[in-house]
Amino acid sequence: MRQRAARDQQRLDSGAVTSPKDLSNLQHEIASLAKRQGDLEDVVLEVMERREAAQERVTELTERVASVQSKIDDATGRRDAAFEEIDGETASVTKEREVVAAAIPADLLKLYDKLRVQQGGIGAAKLYARTCQGCRQELAITELSEIRAAAPDAVVRCENCSRILVRTAESGL
Ligand SMILES: [Zn+2]
Repeated sequence: MRQRAARDQQRLDSGAVTSPKDLSNLQHEIASLAKRQGDLEDVVLEVMERREAAQERVTELTERVASVQSKIDDATGRRDAAFEEIDGETASVTKEREVVAAAIPADLLKLYDKLRVQQGGIGAAKLYARTCQGCRQELAITELSEIRAAAPDAVVRCENCSRILVRTAESGL
């Protein structure tokens, strides 16, 4: 378009066009070409501005993705460390349990395991201040008398929840 405008201008300047009508047409075309060039320049400018804004948004979003990814990496690392810790604890507690279980008579261990399954994972509970710590129920006077009379190595159980009761100095007997 610029070339065409320059060529028109050359023809006009050269004096080769003499007819008033042709001159007027040429001048008109040059003016219209100049206006179209201006319009196109505005469009180019607008497109460039929009491109710049889009580029800024891309940069911003890329940064956010990197920040979120770094948070994910951090959380994943902490989770893995926690898993490792839990695995280690499980292994050590399992070993401890084996040692303790080996020292307990087989029939008592069997009873404990059965109760543990029935009572949501807790087969034995401390008797503390006349209360079963398994079901949180205070024992009846008659029950307490029976427990008091039982031999120290006898297995006593809660009348309410059936769990094995572990007697201590704080049992309130
Ligand atoms: Zn109980």
